[in-house]
Amino acid sequence: MYRTHTCGELRLDNQGSVVTLAGWVQRVRNLGGMTFVDLRDRYGITQLVFDEKTEKAVADKAGQLGREYVIQATGTVRERSSKNKNIATGEIELEVSALNILNAADTPPFTIEDESDGGDELRMKYRYLDLRRAPVRDTLILRAKMAHVTRSYLNSQNFIETETPVLIKSTPEGARDFVVPSRMNPGEFYALPQSPQQLKQLLMVAGFDRYYQIVKCFRDEDLRADRQPEFTQIDCEMSFVEQEDVLNMFEGLTKYMFKEIKGIEITDFPRMPYSEAMEFYGSDKPDIRFEMKIKDLTALAKGKDFSVFNDAEYIGGICATGCAEYTRKQLDALTEWVKRPQIGAKGMVNVKVAADGSIKSSVDKFYTPEDLQKWVDVLGAKPGDLILILSGPKEKMQKALGELRLEMANQLGLRDKNVFQPLWVVDFPLLEWDEETARFYAMHHPFTAPKPEDIPLLETNPGAVRANAYDLVINGVEIGGGSVRIFDKALQAKMFGLLGFSPEQAEYQFGFLMNAFKFGAPPHAGIAFGFDRLTSMFAGLDSIRDTIAFPKNNSGRDVMMDSPSTIADAQLEELSLIVNVKEKK
Ligand code: ASP
Repeated sequence: MYRTHTCGELRLDNQGSVVTLAGWVQRVRNLGGMTFVDLRDRYGITQLVFDEKTEKAVADKAGQLGREYVIQATGTVRERSSKNKNIATGEIELEVSALNILNAADTPPFTIEDESDGGDELRMKYRYLDLRRAPVRDTLILRAKMAHVTRSYLNSQNFIETETPVLIKSTPEGARDFVVPSRMNPGEFYALPQSPQQLKQLLMVAGFDRYYQIVKCFRDEDLRADRQPEFTQIDCEMSFVEQEDVLNMFEGLTKYMFKEIKGIEITDFPRMPYSEAMEFYGSDKPDIRFEMKIKDLTALAKGKDFSVFNDAEYIGGICATGCAEYTRKQLDALTEWVKRPQIGAKGMVNVKVAADGSIKSSVDKFYTPEDLQKWVDVLGAKPGDLILILSGPKEKMQKALGELRLEMANQLGLRDKNVFQPLWVVDFPLLEWDEETARFYAMHHPFTAPKPEDIPLLETNPGAVRANAYDLVINGVEIGGGSVRIFDKALQAKMFGLLGFSPEQAEYQFGFLMNAFKFGAPPHAGIAFGFDRLTSMFAGLDSIRDTIAFPKNNSGRDVMMDSPSTIADAQLEELSLIVNVKEKK
């Protein structure tokens, strides 16, 4: 037996007992006659002591120990003279009587402590060492717990956990596919699923009624901090349901997870149409932990001598509570901030409501106090508040104001990580027009059903058709999304037509689904939650990277394995990716 206990479980109650522990040496402190060793395993840290009473052979061996040595120590549990309140085993230590070095270790390239001295790239290269650090390990334990809780909730609701294949067919919609060449079918490729969308719909045709899977998905996209080329979804589909049923079911899951894992009761799941989200929050994923709504000033601010506003399609503002005292320097910094290319505003106008109610603005030349008072009224600004105004193309400025709103909320400390405010954004547009390719794209995916009342618009004004599609947003982060699906073959064919597929192309790409719809497809709807993101939110992290055991870096590389990597010519030839190597040479 390697151990009788773990490094996290001994307490004062165990005083006097003889135990054996095994683990890694986190730290050795040599204080002349006494040596202390912090022994670590997944469960915690226990202090080992070697002192004048320790047998010479054992003490000598202790002298050989270095960081990350794997050892086994037997000894007697005793009360510590100086207790450590920060760790669970801090009241005891182990007086070692036998020591066994199971494996020596090279000096690790960074410190394996809660706060490491290793940079990101180094930690990723030695990820197995990084994973020994408690904060990283605890996030993965949290993730495992969240998967468990998800399964127990969905199982209790009669969902069937079903695996779907990882080698599937490439489809042109959505993001770019990762593809895999087929050796047995030269010149042909599988694709890795961007999501099991069509497969889960086929499971509904198959009568499974309720499906889920915690599943890897793959998208070959340019990466950002919260994106990984492979990521995990809690993927679900239900039959004989309407939007309302899906929203209720997944409110249930969300509440259950918060309750079970964080001990928080979440009750409030407001709904907001997409159009409202864009108009008042400049985002399809508003953070509604705070108000600060965007207000339209276009009609009020036009028609005076201020040409910047007169030339603008849209003028909008937000009210930052209590910021009237912002200095010139602070306002200049904000102006620079909105002028960055990511935000794209040309400039910024400000209106200050002083403590005595008097109004002062950066455009006093062009507007009377009465004019400005109207803006103040629309924005609901009180004495002490600051109004920030952007103008320009409508959609762009709404988004810019949305970003500015978040920035001001950050500055005002309104985005508390420990407050969780969900929101359903509903009634997304069905289609999105792309100028470059001059065609419509499905905003969600091509299987999403239009709102029944909007179906006639498909003929006349497809851009105005709303979808039965919904996103779950928590604290301004998109946690999940889904839709009611088309289950009628003719409507699905029409949708493919709108997306620019000829009937032949549609048949080639999606024939299996269209065919299945001939054989009795039930009404169905579904949703997928981004599991990595949900985990990072529960863990209070800003990136999903540390929710994943072995993540990729921002260039999509696994720096530990050093992949992607080249493969041998012989392998390329076998896959018909090059022809006849020998002849070529
Ligand atoms: N498959 C969709 C996605 O990955 C989710 C859904 O519609 O269920 O976004």
